[in-house]
Amino acid sequence: MPIISSVGKCFFCNVEYKKAGISKHLNTHLAKENKGEGNKTSFHIRIDYDPSMAGFFFLNLWVDGDSYLSDIDDFLRKIWLECCGHMSAFTNAKDGERYSMYEINDMESDMDDCMNSAIKNIFTKGTKLKYEYDSGNTTTLILKVLERLPVEVPGGIILLSRNEPLEIMCEVCKSAPAVTMCTTCYDPNTFCTKCAKKHAMKCEDFEEYSSLPVVNSPRMGICAYYGGTIDNQRDGVFVKK
Ligand SMILES: [Zn+2]
Ligand SMILES: [Zn+2]
Ligand SMILES: [Zn+2]
Ligand SMILES: [Zn+2]
Repeated sequence: MPIISSVGKCFFCNVEYKKAGISKHLNTHLAKENKGEGNKTSFHIRIDYDPSMAGFFFLNLWVDGDSYLSDIDDFLRKIWLECCGHMSAFTNAKDGERYSMYEINDMESDMDDCMNSAIKNIFTKGTKLKYEYDSGNTTTLILKVLERLPVEVPGGIILLSRNEPLEIMCEVCKSAPAVTMCTTCYDPNTFCTKCAKKHAMKCEDFEEYSSLPVVNSPRMGICAYYGGTIDNQRDGVFVKK
């Protein structure tokens, strides 16, 4: 996929910034929120898709210090990852400590206790964690704590920015945005609506099971991922300007 740029809008002023510049920009807003309320704590966290893969996907989150790792896990599943309830785990890059959980129907009783520690007891500025969803077809993310702020976050987690839908084009006609992909074919495997119809005629897999939608997530095209359940307006196919 010849993607050239990744940009995200600022939660505070709605201006668009490049992937590399948005964190610094958000920090200038957060510095103004930095009023000091005694015992409150929150963190500005940057989440990137495995940099060894095409690292165009990112999230910037503002998370209250009383949140649990399981709250971040839950958020990541809702916006980027959940397909069929796979296991997930955080690993601290510094000491190798691992926090894992199974997402199953009866979460309360089976949740790993480690996921239930408040992040203010784990995070400090500079903390780096690896996050893995699904031990089979693993999606790996890197979390970095950019700032620690002495204020609380209303609602627990605020999405400060995420990459806008990437410019993924149909690999057949190269003129329309891709809306679907075939998980058993290579080159081409992303299609616009028109070219997808033609592909279905010559690819039996595609017609039966191997078609997945193009969505704004690093889990796109993996397992049975059909898109997120929150922030849906930014989860779709990119729109040509
Ligand atoms: Zn701004
Ligand atoms: Zn799955
Ligand atoms: Zn096409
Ligand atoms: Zn195919």
